[in-house]
Amino acid sequence: MRRAILISLAALFMIGPLLPAASAADKIRVVATIPDLKALTEEVGGKLVDVESLARGTQNAHELEIRPSLMLKLRRADMLVENGLELDSWAEVAVQGANNPNIVRGAPGRVDVSRGIQVLEVPSTRVDRSMGDVHPLGNPHYSLDPGMAPIITQNIADGLGRFAPEHRAEFEKNRQAFLARLDEAMARWARAMEPFKGVKVVVYHPQWIYILSRFGLSQAATLEDRPGIPASPTHLTRVIRQMKDEGIKVIIVEPWNDLKLATRVADEAGAKAVVLASMVGGVKGADSYIAAIDHNVNALVTAMK
Ligand SMILES: [Zn+2]
Repeated sequence: MRRAILISLAALFMIGPLLPAASAADKIRVVATIPDLKALTEEVGGKLVDVESLARGTQNAHELEIRPSLMLKLRRADMLVENGLELDSWAEVAVQGANNPNIVRGAPGRVDVSRGIQVLEVPSTRVDRSMGDVHPLGNPHYSLDPGMAPIITQNIADGLGRFAPEHRAEFEKNRQAFLARLDEAMARWARAMEPFKGVKVVVYHPQWIYILSRFGLSQAATLEDRPGIPASPTHLTRVIRQMKDEGIKVIIVEPWNDLKLATRVADEAGAKAVVLASMVGGVKGADSYIAAIDHNVNALVTAMK
């Protein structure tokens, strides 16, 4: 008898840990292509969503290897949030492998957050992708510009609202609370960047034009010959000369790019190479949307001083 009671008590305790898992199953399952969009979807969706990202913050989002594990993540998704502008066109391959009608192009669960974004650096002539340029539709790296977050989160809220109309008000409440926090941070960032208006910087990959423009900095050159095309020695010589002539002191480097090369160029030009988080999670401590921009603004200010 006593033994029987013990066993049923043990059974009771075993049910405990299972309960949260059961409620997790009720959440809206979202897959985001990049961590910035995961972070923003979590801000809007709050407790109602369970979000995974296909890319990691330290990766080059242009080139993701489609492994079966990515397709597995997509197979059970209610929604796929993508960056668009061909940054994450690899997601299409994974979607086709996932065989999930919720997220095929044109389905209500497919959310392209570039809708409504004013795209910069749109090529004036047709870009031939066979030449390797990875920005054929213009610069796709708008997500870590805090000024773009209202549009991105609007697209996410619309997508979540289509899936769960009964929670629309909650998504909008979450979104407004996040945007209020972002506004406060924006005032702090604008103050920190104010003294550096008009300063020219060099970037490795052209990933920074949106945030540089936001704070009045300008991009003088890229180490890559063209977007996605490796630096050639003649091009680098030209950049070094330009940096000396124009007194450019900073080269921005992405976590996935060649820091050694950037440092060598910086040394020759009398400048500094500084690694910024090109996506949420790209560097240590940049593990939320606001934390990533905090890191980038602080690192830039320190380098420009
Ligand atoms: Zn790019």
